[in-house]
Amino acid sequence: MYDYLIVGAGLFGAVFAREATDKGKKVLVIDKRDHIAGNVFTREIEGINVHEYGAHIFHTNNREVWEYVNKFAEFNRFTNAPVANYKGELYSLPFNMYTFNKMWGVVTPEEAKAKIEEQRKAAGITEPKNLEEQAISLVGTDIYEKLIKGYTKKQWGRPCSELPAFIIKRLPVRYTFDNNYFNALFQGIPMGGYTKMVENMLKGIEVRTGVDYFDVKDELEAQAQKVIYTGPIDAYFDYKLGTLEYRSVRFETEVLDTDNFQGNAAVNFTDEETPWTRIIEHKFFEFGEQPKTVISREYSSEWEKGDEPYYPVNDEKNGKLYEEYKKLADAEEKVVFGGRLGEYKYYDMDKVIESALEAAKKYL
Ligand code: FAD
Ligand code: UDP
Repeated sequence: MYDYLIVGAGLFGAVFAREATDKGKKVLVIDKRDHIAGNVFTREIEGINVHEYGAHIFHTNNREVWEYVNKFAEFNRFTNAPVANYKGELYSLPFNMYTFNKMWGVVTPEEAKAKIEEQRKAAGITEPKNLEEQAISLVGTDIYEKLIKGYTKKQWGRPCSELPAFIIKRLPVRYTFDNNYFNALFQGIPMGGYTKMVENMLKGIEVRTGVDYFDVKDELEAQAQKVIYTGPIDAYFDYKLGTLEYRSVRFETEVLDTDNFQGNAAVNFTDEETPWTRIIEHKFFEFGEQPKTVISREYSSEWEKGDEPYYPVNDEKNGKLYEEYKKLADAEEKVVFGGRLGEYKYYDMDKVIESALEAAKKYL
């Protein structure tokens, strides 16, 4: 009955479904949640598109992907520029001339570089061995102490001295006055929310939500030529080799009777004592002027089996286990594993779309 059964109505599933349908294939999409769009799902509350599974800012260097998403939504000019709040002192992120000026009163890039070099030398770091040393060597001790140490410890549940150096290298360090958190060529938020964008991708396609694949596997698989599976790879094999670990986050969302709570989409709380890592004020992703506001406090939490999986843990132990599951997956002739959970990979949205388009080219 179907050429493709697609498990998961997130970005990977939706893009593949669109491409297959446009090539004349008959497709059924299912998702165990009661909604489409996977983790980019936005829910409208008080006229505001709330990013229910965490803040999602679309950014990419890939023109093909940018043009692709623009077929399904109009993107606004939102640029991510989070503010760091350290015990009531506010600093610009990522680390740039505004941050250096506020921290030390320096005015020129040369002065900022000299200050960082002085602190790096005083700390005696030549070859950074962990996140703490890497951070100090990039931005100096003051910024490390106020903007990195506490935040990172809350986010990862362990001190910076026990974390790999590369994590902090994800953030730009700039000697210009530029608060753009990303270096990407294209950036924005789909106007009207991500759910609407995914709805447009799935237009004319049969979608059933609230359906868990494992409850209907035999029945639906018998009706489909091929399966595109975007759920967790270990769940597919009933965890028979063990459980892959994730890092989890928890959100506390509140509607407030004010039109402007914090004046920015994202504020990071970088001290160790504040229990949440950041607060998202959703309306500002779309420059909203609604009379009320919706905020989400984000807490980093340990993941346990049964919790919502968020970030794959890219350490050696989990990497090895994934490789074993991958061998089993490759032997499944009828099933293609894709997306963040199917490939156990920390993918940004643009990379997931790129990968779904590649899969579409390969299989269709
Ligand atoms: P998902 O969106 O997870 O979709 C998989 C779907 O499969 C889910 O809907 C799930 O319910 C369904 N499913 C699973 N098992 C079953 C089953 N047994 N039966 C039926 N359905 C099933 N990327 C960016 O580019 N910018 C950002 O700012 C950004 N912020 C992020 C913030 C957070 C907190 C997180 C966790 C991720 C962020 N990302 C961001 C990454 C982005 O969320 C992912 O790249 C993208 O959502 C992955 O899409 P996917 O289709 O692979 O997975
Ligand atoms: N980071 C920090 N202070 C901040 C923001 C980020 O110390 O205010 C560090 C933290 O260790 C984090 C890393 O920089 O893990 C990368 O930040 P990014 O925002 O890319 O992390 P994500 O939330 O995407 O994991």
